[in-house]
Amino acid sequence: MGKVTGFLEIDRQEQKYQPAADRVRHYREFTLPLSEPEVTRQASRCMDCGVPYCHGPTGCPVHNQIPDWNDLVYSGDWDEAQRNLHSTNNFPEFTGRICPAPCEEACTLNLEDIPVAIKTVEQALADKGWAMGWIQPEPASEKKGKSVGIIGSGPAGMAAGQQLARAGYDVHIYERAAKAGGLLRYGIPDFKMEKYHIDRRVLQMEAEGVTFHYKTNVGVDITMADLREKHDAVLMAGGAERPRNPEIPGQDLDGVHYAMPYLTQQNQRNGGEPIVGQENIFAASKHVVVVGGGDTASDCVGTAFRQGALSVTQMDIRPIPPVKEDKFDFWPYWPTKFRTSSSQAEGAEREFAAATLEIVGEEGHVTHVKCARVDEKRQPIAGTEFYLRADLVFLAIGFAGPGEDGLLEEMGDTLDRDKRANVLADEFSYQTTVDGVYAAGDIRRGQSLVVWAIREGRQAARAIDLALSGETSLPR
Ligand code: FAD
Repeated sequence: MGKVTGFLEIDRQEQKYQPAADRVRHYREFTLPLSEPEVTRQASRCMDCGVPYCHGPTGCPVHNQIPDWNDLVYSGDWDEAQRNLHSTNNFPEFTGRICPAPCEEACTLNLEDIPVAIKTVEQALADKGWAMGWIQPEPASEKKGKSVGIIGSGPAGMAAGQQLARAGYDVHIYERAAKAGGLLRYGIPDFKMEKYHIDRRVLQMEAEGVTFHYKTNVGVDITMADLREKHDAVLMAGGAERPRNPEIPGQDLDGVHYAMPYLTQQNQRNGGEPIVGQENIFAASKHVVVVGGGDTASDCVGTAFRQGALSVTQMDIRPIPPVKEDKFDFWPYWPTKFRTSSSQAEGAEREFAAATLEIVGEEGHVTHVKCARVDEKRQPIAGTEFYLRADLVFLAIGFAGPGEDGLLEEMGDTLDRDKRANVLADEFSYQTTVDGVYAAGDIRRGQSLVVWAIREGRQAARAIDLALSGETSLPR
């Protein structure tokens, strides 16, 4: 347990941000890390509760042993603390930056709105692990003589690949993009997580024996049948990137785009990748409207500000949530409450309980968005219509499952799907209805979080090891 009187004496302190006016001038991360003594003080606030919900099923999907590493940080043993952290999470520098931190909602001190700054400690531990050279490749001491093919190099595919390589398998990851990382690289903007974090992990995994095959679209450049022939097992970890279609009249006008192509382009520019064969989508000197209230929409907001948008308005059909949740109703679960992302704080206008009725334009190009307030059933209220000026509109109302072309077309009816069109496989065997083919991450659970993708990748690796070797020492 941290300091016995820690939470009584020490206030919660989080990382601060560069001021908005400074951070919108660049695409880099903008958090100002706490000093080591400050992180130690924050770790010492952890009381090692009898039932630490922070690492329970909803608090932390990978079950990070949070009280244990907080105590180790408090005692000054950062090396052992980061080892402990890596025993449950392959990539804590990813989650330390971009996880929404359900662990902090579940912290007992959150009953008083002063949870332990768990995410800040996690990031500090992972960053120190890299800075000190404690994080090194861990190649298997014995090879199993079997190979696994993984489709997709997002956090699910990477976590599974690392676990399987360390267990002695010959692992091949097939990725249709030019670089690894999935939505971590091409969806999530650099200002939330810079991409050198992924590159460093790729090098670590290569040194552990993982082979990455880029620009290889399974179902197009190589078939699933080929992969099943080459490998003893195949894991589908291709994500769920098919955008939900809002079916708004006028959405085919010029200047209206789905969020992902927009975010991908800026990530490609930042990474020095060419943008080939597509229109450049850029918000400089434009009035921007983002339809949708989630993470993806928020990332469009921050990107548009960095590109020099004149105004950014975000449309949320949901009513404005309460500022503070009733702890007795929600704790230790994730509450719906009014939250402001760092991107929204950069100057976005936010419209709540507002439907986008139509996108209107002149000469084929968007000029305005017609909106209206909605009632409790999300139906437009007559007489409340209003117009927003718009030169660019981004549609970001969520995702509807995996892309249907190529791979899923090839697999056809042999591969069962759930009622939301995700690939059907249970959370224990991760086995699909095709023999020797497994599924994990967003392709199985639908668009979710990085921490869930890491959990599923780890658990699928264990299930594959068990199926191929009859036993496993990989953790669930
Ligand atoms: P993905 O990350 O989608 O990776 C799938 C990979 O498979 C891709 O690289 C794709 O190119 C590849 N692939 C697909 N099909 C094939 C094929 N046939 N052949 C070869 N390769 C293929 N989560 C958070 O926790 N925090 C956040 O802040 C956050 N922000 C987000 C912002 C945006 C804009 C989006 C879209 C999502 C965000 N998420 C966030 C969610 C998170 O990114 C995903 O839940 C997570 O990346 C899913 O991991 P995955 O490995 O299952 O799939």
